[in-house]
Amino acid sequence: MPDKAQPRETILILGGTREAAKLARDLVATKPKARIITSLAGRTREPAPLAGEARTGGFGGVEGLAGYIRDTGITQLIDATHPFARQISANAVEAARLTGVPFEIRTRKPWVKHPGDIWTEVENLEQARDAIPPGARVLLALGSQHIGLFASRNDVHFVVRMIDQPERPLDLPDHALVLGRPGDTAAIETMLLITHSITHILCRNSGGKAAYAKIEAARELGLPVIIVDRSK
Ligand code: NAP
Repeated sequence: MPDKAQPRETILILGGTREAAKLARDLVATKPKARIITSLAGRTREPAPLAGEARTGGFGGVEGLAGYIRDTGITQLIDATHPFARQISANAVEAARLTGVPFEIRTRKPWVKHPGDIWTEVENLEQARDAIPPGARVLLALGSQHIGLFASRNDVHFVVRMIDQPERPLDLPDHALVLGRPGDTAAIETMLLITHSITHILCRNSGGKAAYAKIEAARELGLPVIIVDRSK
């Protein structure tokens, strides 16, 4: 007999990543009696459908998240956000402390440098921008919100890959726009790098499988990668 006094298991996943969506699918499949809620910041116009329930938008800081945890009867909190989404992760740690809810961190591990990788590891995007040598042809593998930072580098040719056509022209002096998702294999990424005569890749060390193919392709071609290291 189930204990009626026991609150229903209610898991809040802080999401916005492929890994969070997979976790929601797995939990819905393995815990049919539980409520599985995925929280999205609301940055993506048309997010992919999620298993279980979804909620969208900021909570209003630590206090807001703690209030939501209490009001919704959350019994477990899981941080599966993007590794560079630092604010929400810090809020989650603090809200878990305030509410005493069991808390698990499931953010991706960073990529590890392998023999053959030519990495310039930097602390932030400003340092990454300044590390690009003049005359370079750079695959800029970053979200659209970061592109403007590179506008001052009119001595560099940028190749920018985006999933959706941007609403406004990119604020970059010399660039090519490639529409599409990152390639799944090193062979696909190698083709892109060769086609655009890329000399450098610039990206963040996001970890995970989805974006790793370009790192493998760079290794195979002996291309340098300017990489923002989150551990610094
Ligand atoms: P952030 O700087 O850590 O968060 C800024 C604020 O956005 C947070 O304080 C919170 O507002 C709200 N927020 C962030 N993630 C949320 C979530 N999952 N549910 C509800 N509110 C959330 O985060 P960010 O870098 O803007 O990333 C936002 C979301 O996009 C994350 O869910 C992340 O997993 C996803 N994402 C980020 C990146 C990236 O490069 N940063 C890449 C892919 C996906 P309140 O303080 O009001 O609660």
